[in-house]
Amino acid sequence: MKFVDAHTHMELFAFKEVDLEHISSLEDLLRAVESFRGESLVAWGWDERRIGVFLERKHIDHIDIPVLLIRVDGHVGVANTRAVELLGLKGDDRFDPEKGHLFEETLWEAANRLKPGGERLARCLLKGLKKAEEMGIVEVHDFVSPEVMEAYLSLEELPVRVVVMPYYDGYKEVLRLAGDRFPVGWVKVYVDGSIGARTAYLREPYADREDWRGVLLKGWEEIARIIAELEEEGLRVSLHAIGDGAIEECLKAFEEVGPRLRYHRIEHAELITEDQALRAKRLGLLICAQPNFNPYFMGTYVKALGEERARRINPLRMLDSLKVDMVFGSDMMPFDPGFGFRYAERVLGRRKAEYYYYGWREEGRYIKG
Ligand SMILES: [Zn+2]
Repeated sequence: MKFVDAHTHMELFAFKEVDLEHISSLEDLLRAVESFRGESLVAWGWDERRIGVFLERKHIDHIDIPVLLIRVDGHVGVANTRAVELLGLKGDDRFDPEKGHLFEETLWEAANRLKPGGERLARCLLKGLKKAEEMGIVEVHDFVSPEVMEAYLSLEELPVRVVVMPYYDGYKEVLRLAGDRFPVGWVKVYVDGSIGARTAYLREPYADREDWRGVLLKGWEEIARIIAELEEEGLRVSLHAIGDGAIEECLKAFEEVGPRLRYHRIEHAELITEDQALRAKRLGLLICAQPNFNPYFMGTYVKALGEERARRINPLRMLDSLKVDMVFGSDMMPFDPGFGFRYAERVLGRRKAEYYYYGWREEGRYIKG
């Protein structure tokens, strides 16, 4: 089996210098962290259900380099005193000094400040690409900042083809750096958040939060302006939109602009309705879906959205039957195409699952070169 993973964040391998994901006791976790050699450590993937304890500052305070350990869900992490001091953290609703817990934006700001850069980052990316190769991935569509782009450029040979997907902030710098050494894909813009964090933007309120419909980061007018700007440069957009409300803003923006280019992308489109799917098709859009999300997140979906909406989330069969253009990517949850493939195969059958994971690549339809 060959795969294209059309939605990756290889930069997360910067948080896997110590791999916490497969550790199943506090002792093993501490042994792994203690034996790490480096000036600071950010590691991702602990889970109290496996290690038997919800990590607190006291567990890691004896370690004499700054350490930040991120829980598997990415919404909370724990820092030791060396890290707290280095980052200058003060207690507020996103940092609990007693337990050393950091939440949401504060957590990710800290992770970005402590994570490896330069050559060390490049080594992490290479490790990730080698893992990709082992799993049968031949191409990743990877979201990159200028810093990650520079790290890629410092690598001599890549085991897997990397299509770079610049974030809208800094995309011109990424284009300049990529030159003709890297194929450039789509430019990433966030329209909403995630269902787990209750920030995906819905048309109807969440099931477990009264009157709360999530967060719209960009409305249709701003999205339309960005699409027009990118098309001017011959570029296509990749819009992160999960809730039906956010998808609606994207479609409205495209309908307003009347795109000249085909295959602008919507990432996730988890709650896309049939009517919206038909409009996306009419606009020549490409949906990048995550079959792995259903087996991975169904518990969260039911809680956040209720049974009815959870049942029609990530509607692979509907999109396929309407012949909406679609590709599959993991979004690193988990970074394992086989996991999503097994679900897609069950829903769509083997031949179609293979097509959306790889087959389209042969046609060279969505990407040149
Ligand atoms: Zn993503």
